[in-house]
Amino acid sequence: MANNVCGVSSIAHYQICRLHDDKRKQKCSGTLKRGGTCTNNARGPLPSGIMPTCKIHRHQLKVSAFCKALAACGYECGRLFEWKPHGFQLCSGHLEDTMACFFFKIPVEIRCRVYRLLLPDRPIPARFRSSEYLRTDWRKVHTAILCVNHQIHEEATAFLYRTGIFTIEVSENTLIMCNLPDKLPCHQIVISTRETEDASSGVFHPTPTPFMLLPTIVYKPAGPIWNPQLTERYFTMIQSFRIELLFHHPINYRSPGLSTSDTDKLRVLVSRLARYNDQLHRLVERLRKLSLVRLEITIKFANSNVESLSFQEVFIASWDLLNPFRCLFNVARPRVVSITANDPRNRQFAEIFPSRVSSSETRAFANNLNSWSKDLSSSQPSLKCDQVLEAYWGLENLLSSMKEHCKSEPRFLQFGELLQAARIAREANNLEHFKKIWDRVVAIWFEHLDFQKSLQSNVTQSIDAINGIVNKSRGAVAVVTERHTPAWSASLGTPTPG
Ligand SMILES: [Zn+2]
Ligand SMILES: [Zn+2]
Ligand SMILES: [Zn+2]
Repeated sequence: MANNVCGVSSIAHYQICRLHDDKRKQKCSGTLKRGGTCTNNARGPLPSGIMPTCKIHRHQLKVSAFCKALAACGYECGRLFEWKPHGFQLCSGHLEDTMACFFFKIPVEIRCRVYRLLLPDRPIPARFRSSEYLRTDWRKVHTAILCVNHQIHEEATAFLYRTGIFTIEVSENTLIMCNLPDKLPCHQIVISTRETEDASSGVFHPTPTPFMLLPTIVYKPAGPIWNPQLTERYFTMIQSFRIELLFHHPINYRSPGLSTSDTDKLRVLVSRLARYNDQLHRLVERLRKLSLVRLEITIKFANSNVESLSFQEVFIASWDLLNPFRCLFNVARPRVVSITANDPRNRQFAEIFPSRVSSSETRAFANNLNSWSKDLSSSQPSLKCDQVLEAYWGLENLLSSMKEHCKSEPRFLQFGELLQAARIAREANNLEHFKKIWDRVVAIWFEHLDFQKSLQSNVTQSIDAINGIVNKSRGAVAVVTERHTPAWSASLGTPTPG
């Protein structure tokens, strides 16, 4: 039949077969001004590739094509129709027909360019309102392409995840990526946002006091590793990350009516940084399992008093935040992009790094950053993820289950404070200090057990005493009955019944 299609017989077939007769060739395809199609006869000669028209509509120049669908007779339909760019070559009678897909005939590089037009082409923020934010042309993203078939899904996801830059936002309580917050139930302290709201109304509420030590509670353990909400298979494809560290602790905060000594401020800062680094250690542990090409870090200090900002304090805090990343290695391009501070109350903002002002502090910081980058790109980790960190996660888990088990034990109220102290020891990599805390935990546990034991023996004594009282009369009856029991009758040789 293929021979026939191309040969002389095919021309003969098209002349005879009624499946291909086409009245459209004789009618004008022009569109009337009032709408609808012109009913005049078409006038020749036809320019090739253009739909036939009458004299009036000859300027409309609609592109034409011949229908490629297979008719029931086995020949191509061949009817003339108006072709719209990117459309299939099918007449209106065959629009529902399936056609061979030419998408896989083009090279994969070109297909990737198609995916680039449909999928995000900007770094993906941790939070975004709609998909327009993901594209440089502010058009919607069409992820439906991922559902077309298996091959397109594989190619397009590889393109999206391997070449895209993904942002992870780290705050004290959670890690957010692709609009997906952490799986952890948030039992942890949420810092009030009233401060920012109040700035607009001009009312200043002194709570929460910035230098107040937050109530110490034992959290639901976060665990040593972050499990992102994104499917594991896709997450492991990602090679480029932008990490946004949001540290909501006021740096060098000065507020009227608050007189906090510098030592207290530093103590609270160290404490807050240690708690914040819980999230960073979890993140770094997860990133260690990936091969990273690009790692960009931005640090944002919120609620800072910009006017009285001390560079030294900011740099000390920044180092504490950057330190956990030194467990990473073989990162091709590690970089600290910026360090900023803002003060929503006074709508102030300060760019601390890179800084326009060159001082000995900023130069020293830039030098340190250079060696930090070298550490991350070297083939060995410069910071061993050491025993204190491992022991800390074990301790956190243990304290949580002990507390869960005996909620009412007043001794266990100390655990919150001890855990926080263990955190600080962890950050300082101070094994000696950690051991002291650990000894204290063990001591508390044995005190609890000793108390339980003495309670147990006291209770047993009481049970016996009360048993003695309530069974006293029954005891007397028993003695009387015993006199007539077979036991002593037998010893006298008296025959027993049964
Ligand atoms: Zn036919
Ligand atoms: Zn016409
Ligand atoms: Zn057709």
